[in-house]
Amino acid sequence: MKVEKEQALQQIHQQRFGKAGAIFAAPARVNLIGEHTDYTGGFVMPMAIDFHTVAVVSAREDGRAVFYSGNYDEEVSVKIDSLGQSPSGGWNDYPTGVLWSLRKEGVDVGGFNLSLAGDVPLGSGLSSSASVEVATAMALLGHAKAELPLEKVATLCRRAENDYVGAKSGIMDQFAVAGCVANRAMLLDCRSLEYELLPLPDQVRVVICNSMVKHAVATGEYGDRSSEVEAGQAVLQRERPGVKLLRDATLQDLEACRDLMSSASFKRCRHIITENARVVKARAALLQGDLERFGALLVEAHASFRDDFAASCEEVDVLVAIAMQQEECFGARITGGGFGGCSVNVVREEAAEQFVATVRREYAAKTGIEADCFVCTPADGAFALARKGGVA
Ligand code: ADP
Ligand code: MG
Repeated sequence: MKVEKEQALQQIHQQRFGKAGAIFAAPARVNLIGEHTDYTGGFVMPMAIDFHTVAVVSAREDGRAVFYSGNYDEEVSVKIDSLGQSPSGGWNDYPTGVLWSLRKEGVDVGGFNLSLAGDVPLGSGLSSSASVEVATAMALLGHAKAELPLEKVATLCRRAENDYVGAKSGIMDQFAVAGCVANRAMLLDCRSLEYELLPLPDQVRVVICNSMVKHAVATGEYGDRSSEVEAGQAVLQRERPGVKLLRDATLQDLEACRDLMSSASFKRCRHIITENARVVKARAALLQGDLERFGALLVEAHASFRDDFAASCEEVDVLVAIAMQQEECFGARITGGGFGGCSVNVVREEAAEQFVATVRREYAAKTGIEADCFVCTPADGAFALARKGGVA
């Protein structure tokens, strides 16, 4: 997304609402490793990618919040003062939820028009939801002439998704979309919200391959998985005094509680405990520039997600299998909540285009589906974009 996309939305906003507005943007994200570890206080390693939701905001005098999405070509209006926790089930729950959450935070938001448009693929595991939430939060904070720190913005956007939209999710997406910076991956401790920005070696590209199989976080099995995890975590908390969050548990702790939980909970927890360890090892591998090791950890993470977490899908397994036959690929795995979506692949830079051509050809031959593939470098999050004054 370049400056033209911001200008295009500005024009739409001006035609629709009769005046220009202030422009904000938030990227999408891809998670390199650390899947379903965030909501039990573990480690994740996302990076922001070069897809964006743009938000244009202008004031209005009637105390209403008017949301327009270019993606849906639809306008929704609510009265700000009487806004309760009343989701409608539509796309506008995401921005309306952010308004609701900002007000809970004590931010006084006056009447506004908010236009949104994004090129983030929706429902593909690249977190268009966090992108739209964070873009909305930045725009409404700008409109209210208020500032909040990164942790607060991420947390209030997560609350919008969890409590207003009603979708279970951890803090990773909102934190990464808000706080990442260009050319760096982010290692985030989801308990303390401490983070570290890690260099990705120049000789690799991150390639995202979209299986085109869609998931639905709000209604789907994502919720079942997190419930199974939470049930297992509750047993560990009860039985093992040192365990406050699943993040504190070892495989020995889990083994000791095996008979006290369902076999599904046992396996889901085993994925998360081993996954946290893999993220820590992946950090070390990146710092040492050891791409073979980094890639091998991605492959292990995929197997764990598929077998223990039982949240992969046949099509993404095919994408990963094709990738791992390519010599120029260090590692590949499913990324995002699961049950469809995208694979993430770490590929030698000079071979990235060839890699994409091969994956697309073989995936189409095996499944009949045309995959969308993107060669990415780590992009700026919403805070860095706001500091620099735009997406361009
Ligand atoms: P993901 O985050 O993986 O893309 P989700 O199901 O969590 O998938 O979120 C997708 C939802 O976010 C869409 O169905 C829509 O409701 C909302 N959304 C995302 N981007 C936009 C946008 N530009 N305009 C309006 N709604 C959006
Ligand atoms: Mg989402």
